[in-house]
Amino acid sequence: MPVPADVLEELVTANRILANEGIVDAFGHVSIRHPERSDHYVMSRARAPECIEAEDLVEFRLDGAPVTPLTPDRKPYAERFIHGAVYEARPDVRAVVHHHSPSVIPFGITGTKFSPVMHMCASMGTDVPTWDSRTHFGDTNLLVTDLAMARDLARTLGDRRVALMRGHGAVVAGGSLREVVFNSVYLELNAELQMKATSLGEITFLSDGEVAAVLKTRSSFTFERAWEYWCRRAGRPYDTRPMEGPLAGAS
Ligand SMILES: [Zn+2]
Repeated sequence: MPVPADVLEELVTANRILANEGIVDAFGHVSIRHPERSDHYVMSRARAPECIEAEDLVEFRLDGAPVTPLTPDRKPYAERFIHGAVYEARPDVRAVVHHHSPSVIPFGITGTKFSPVMHMCASMGTDVPTWDSRTHFGDTNLLVTDLAMARDLARTLGDRRVALMRGHGAVVAGGSLREVVFNSVYLELNAELQMKATSLGEITFLSDGEVAAVLKTRSSFTFERAWEYWCRRAGRPYDTRPMEGPLAGAS
């Protein structure tokens, strides 16, 4: 079943926003679960997010196999397995970002507590785990290039929105494309702010109760306000229609 054109354009916009906001560079990727086939997802062929057009988007099965074989000039992302494994483990997830957002990396390397320091960043949660590929897979090139590694990462993510990847990056999962882009941008901001605050003195992090209170009062309007702003900055049209309906069952 083809993915509606407006949904594909939304995914192009997500790629461009993440690039424009400095969350991804030539590397990193974002996907959506297929709106009609919950056992499929859609993401670009391997290409820098800033360059992605709708015709670059490819439909994959959860095991990472393309639904239609790719021509030799269209290679898939080597790390697409991250996305399939998260969709497999998390029926509530409709969109996934994997990025190497620069300020986030130091926290995955050091094991330093990484927790919200500002209300806008609350959605990362107060319990951000770090997945270390070496624990179960030894010395690798650190890329998640098969389902076994991706499922291990998804287990570390658990029911959270964010997991760090030691010496590599992060995975951000959520209920909509606009949500995961929002949370990816504010994850980077939290990392920047926390590092700056560390040089000034002891940090007072948001409490679990404050995080819960922020999320309770956060409506889709928050995501829309940010999305419209980021669309303008990225030179992309702002589509006001909600993109995600109820999850359809696998067929
Ligand atoms: Zn990566």
